[in-house]
This record gives sequence, C-alpha cells and structure tokens, in this order.
Amino acid sequence: MTIIRGATTIPCDNADEIKKAVKEMLEQIESRNDLKRDEIMSLVFSSTSDIHSYYPAKAAREAGFGLSGSLFSAQEPDIDGSLKLCIRVMLFVEKNFEPRHVYLRGARGLRKDIAQKVQIAIDGPSGSGKSTLARALAKHLNIAYLDTGAMYRACGYKVLEAGVDIQNETKVYDLLLGVKIDIAYEGDEQRTLLDGKDVSGFIRTPEVALAASAVSAYRSVRYHLTEKQREIARRMSCVLDGRDIGTFVLPEADVKIFLTARPEVRAKRRFEELKEKGYAVKPDEILKEIMRRDEQDSTRAVAPLKKADDAVEIDTSDMTADEVLGAILKIVGEKIG
Ligand code: C5P
Repeated sequence: MTIIRGATTIPCDNADEIKKAVKEMLEQIESRNDLKRDEIMSLVFSSTSDIHSYYPAKAAREAGFGLSGSLFSAQEPDIDGSLKLCIRVMLFVEKNFEPRHVYLRGARGLRKDIAQKVQIAIDGPSGSGKSTLARALAKHLNIAYLDTGAMYRACGYKVLEAGVDIQNETKVYDLLLGVKIDIAYEGDEQRTLLDGKDVSGFIRTPEVALAASAVSAYRSVRYHLTEKQREIARRMSCVLDGRDIGTFVLPEADVKIFLTARPEVRAKRRFEELKEKGYAVKPDEILKEIMRRDEQDSTRAVAPLKKADDAVEIDTSDMTADEVLGAILKIVGEKIG
C-alpha cells in the first residue's frame, strides 16, 4: 500500500471554492502519480476549523473519486498561527510505489521536504526570448534549466554529420535510435552530449537549426526525446523551454508561459546572439530561417508550436529581459506562491 499526502487552500469559505479546490488537488494527485481511480482505496480529509460550507469528502465523491472505497472528512484543531482555510488529504492506494505528494496554492510552502517538484514550461517561437528568460528564471528560483531545443539540435546535427537523407523518417529514426543524447551541467550552463561528446559549440548554426526543425517533425523522434525530457523533469524541479512543453511534454506543468515577439525583433535578437558567438551570419538570412522554422514548427502534425490554453502569453517585442523576468516572476508567484 502507498499513502499520498496533499493539501490546498481556498480563498474563502464557500461550497463552490471547496469543490473546485478538492477536485483540482485530487486530479493533480491522480495525474502526478499515474493513478487509476479504482486503485484508490480510501481518502481521508481534514480541514481547518474556519471551513464550514461543504464536506471535502462529499466534494471528492461528486468529482468521481473514492466511488469504490471509503471517504471521510474531519475538522482540525484550531492551532494559533496555522495556515487558514486549508484542506488536507491522505490517500490510500493499493499498489506500492514512490508517491508524489501534492501541495497546492497557499499550502505549497507547508512541506517542502515531501512536496512535489515544480515544473515550469516556457514555450514560443525562436527568438522570442525563451532561453534567456528560462535560464534567468531557473537561476532566480535556484532550480534546473532544460533547453529542449538543444536536444533537437543535437539530433539535427547528427543527421547532417552522418549525411543521412533528412526527408527519410525511417533512416533518420534508425540513425537516432543508436545515438545517446545526454544533458550535463557545468555550473548553470547546460552542455549537450552526443554519444558522450560535448556538441554544445556546434549546434547553434542556422543549418543545424533547420535540420533540428525538420527532424523534430517526426513523431518517432519527438516521442523518443519527449520521454527523456519527462524523465529529467520528474527527477528535479526545473524550467523547460521549447515548443510543446505546456501542450505535450508536461501538460500538468505548474506554470505555463508562452512568449512571442514580432518576427523582425526575433531575427535581430538571433542575429546579435550568433554574432556575439562568432558566427558569420547575415540578418536577412536569419529572418528567412526564422520564418521557415516558424512555418515548419507550427504546421507539423505532431506536437506543433502552439500556446497551451492555460498558458499566459507575453509579447516580449518591446520589453527588456529584466522586464520579462519581472512579469514571469509575478505569474510564478501567483501560481505557486
Ligand atoms: O529552441 P531552438 O531554436 O533551439 O529549437 C530548435 C528547433 O527544435 C526548433 O525550431 C523546433 O523545430 C525544435 N524544437 C521542438 N520542440 C521543442 C524544442 C525545439 O520541436 N520542445
């Protein structure tokens, strides 16, 4: 048997708020632990003494939980200084596994020792400022940063290097299946390893970017890398940037941001970035490459570049990096405290 803990808070003592908070907490527990409803044996709730409007257990049953087991609600003692308007749950599950406890809203700070990892998704087209912001945010929150684009770039690089026909999905996948892509960290800096070799310095060129975009449209390649990205996100709190993090890789991410910017602004940023790194590139070529990648990335059939319904969109065209970071920190503060 496994016991999973959870807690959340409500903004005011009201039946609808209780129902909403209980449903959200249980759905998060369910998805983060890969549970099936009938594996839940019983649910025990407690709520602080300032909650009177509804039984959390009743809200759980109405949301479809505990239908085949037992449910129970109790009131907690009124201890000075304790968190207000808080609902706690203890879930008993039949199978044995490593539980992921879920602390939401105002309850997030309650049990940092066992609370679930934080996952922040930053998506958007190239040059929208994703990587700069994701890196700065991760540093600010003292959590890891995963640049998923670098993984697709490493694949694109490998295909170019091997001379395999990039239009041939089977050949591309066969080649990539035998390749090991790993992420390592040197301080804050992500290094991308291809079969153990650090290729970080070779994957930033426009040719590799286009090859990355082409191979990333293949379902087989995407699933392969998505699994790797999920595995990393399961292990630690992190900020991931990409095209499909909020929609596909981590649909349950705690915070989802979608960054955009006008194409000419994005091309200028990319140009400056590459120039600084010593690449000989032309501004008009960069604009063309960006437009082509936008088109490829947004029209592919599998996990296209798309804003998740629950992502917050920020147009960074006329903002400095510090302003964008400030805006994102505000959103993060509101969502995860
Ligand atoms: O973000 P970056 O420009 O490094 O990504 C390179 C390419 O990798 C993108 O144009 C896109 O086609 C692909 N990619 C993706 N999904 C991600 C990240 C990148 O398809 N999560």
